[in-house]
Amino acid sequence: MSEPQQSGQNQVQNYIGGQWTDATGTDGMDVVNPATGETLSYVGFSTDGDVDEAVQHGQAAFNTWSQRPIEERIQPLFELKQLLEEHLDALAEVLVEEHGKTLDEARGELRRGIENVETACGMPTLMQAGHVENAAPNIDETAVRKPLGVFAAVTPFNFPGMIPLWFLPYAVASGNSFILKPSERDPLTTKYMFELIDEAGFPDGVVQLVNGSVDTVDALIEHDGIEGISFVGSTPVAKTIYQKAAANGKRVQAQGGAKNHIVVSETADLEFAARKSVSSALACSGERCLANDVVCVEESVYGEFRDLVVDIAASQVVGYGLDEETDVGALITPEHEERVRNYVETGVQEGANLVLDGRDVSVEGSEDGNFLGPCIFTDVTPDMVIAQEEIFGPVLSLMSVTDVDQGIEVLNSSDFGNAASLFTGEGAEARDFRHNAQAGNLAINAGTAAPMAFFHFGGQKDSFFGDLHAQAEDVVRFYTDETVYIERWPDA
Ligand code: NAD
Repeated sequence: MSEPQQSGQNQVQNYIGGQWTDATGTDGMDVVNPATGETLSYVGFSTDGDVDEAVQHGQAAFNTWSQRPIEERIQPLFELKQLLEEHLDALAEVLVEEHGKTLDEARGELRRGIENVETACGMPTLMQAGHVENAAPNIDETAVRKPLGVFAAVTPFNFPGMIPLWFLPYAVASGNSFILKPSERDPLTTKYMFELIDEAGFPDGVVQLVNGSVDTVDALIEHDGIEGISFVGSTPVAKTIYQKAAANGKRVQAQGGAKNHIVVSETADLEFAARKSVSSALACSGERCLANDVVCVEESVYGEFRDLVVDIAASQVVGYGLDEETDVGALITPEHEERVRNYVETGVQEGANLVLDGRDVSVEGSEDGNFLGPCIFTDVTPDMVIAQEEIFGPVLSLMSVTDVDQGIEVLNSSDFGNAASLFTGEGAEARDFRHNAQAGNLAINAGTAAPMAFFHFGGQKDSFFGDLHAQAEDVVRFYTDETVYIERWPDA
């Protein structure tokens, strides 16, 4: 493993052409532990020149990498899986320190990332596209998937260990080269993963890392040498990236923000539904695109369900993610904490009932951390801001609905369409929900509708811009072009 150089203030470096180098921009920012306020590192932002250098290396690498047999291209992924497993606990600690989530959540996130590396090792099968003999008289037709060149991905802060792996292993196993621009707010997990990538045996330039912010992303989108952009982040940025990338003639898949709902039927196991609702809303302090923070409960069981939820949420331990007993960790920045607190205030102003108020939480020994305890609102109505906008914090809203159908109406009226869940004991209700609810990921009796890596992950409506999603066969199609061979030979 080549050692990252430690320049300046322990700067997080780029990984370009197989070398660790400093970004040459004059801008950058501190990487801060959200639970303690301690500065962990500094990330410099990359310039157009840095991006251009990475693209040139990516193109040179593509010329030979794409010609290698597919069986050879997946070998570094087997190595990478092994390295990620060996370093999982250490990676999880880095992730907690820079992000604020709990150790359990960090380990779980990394496992979901590794699952993608495993799935991409099936590329010899994933790349198969189809063959028909005698498609016309004496004519055989075969579709093949071919890699295209250099791809880039721009990823958010909330899953720095997992989301890059929704793309990276598939891009390179299918024969492309790949440049990652991770979130500038928590780039240290990615840096650690690239130290492992460096060790895994990819040829120089096949997998690269450029750190930065908005300007770096613009440089990637505007560079003629990049074939396509995968983006995950907030909806306004996803929309902009989608438009800009398309205007620059690139393929683009852009996953945006969310507002996810749970519907609870009177036939559900209420205790189970309450536990799953609380964990779904509070996991990663609510900083998840799959957080279900609105629960629509059938009125006949609303009171009982509310009491269960409040009891469970009140027992959650708020604290430093490195403490094993912590259930709810820190929010990413003081600015984001302030934004979430403003939403809580908005909920109060618009008449919702704040039955559990986590605003006064204090964490001993972490007085400078960005903490907010669980906040539970009851009597929420669909027109309220807290029922409509993505809050991205540990805030859960309970809404009474006449029946499951009304719950489905509420969730379908959302601008977003990432995920939704139904808790029920009735097969017919489950079938109706699957048929009528509008979201890319629908769960029955599960709080978080997160598909395994061998299914695609994608939202609908304002949660996704594009057509081919992350993970599995969808992303392989994004990273390849299909050519059809039409073949006839003279009769012997
Ligand atoms: P963000 O949109 O602020 O940033 C995401 C990435 O885009 C970062 O790498 C950032 O540097 C870059 N960026 C930010 N502003 C930009 C701009 N104006 N132009 C170009 N690039 C820009 O998102 P975030 O706060 O890091 O992440 C949280 C958001 O991501 C939430 O809305 C969450 O729902 C969403 N998210 C969605 C999914 C999904 O699968 N749909 C998954 C995880 C997170």
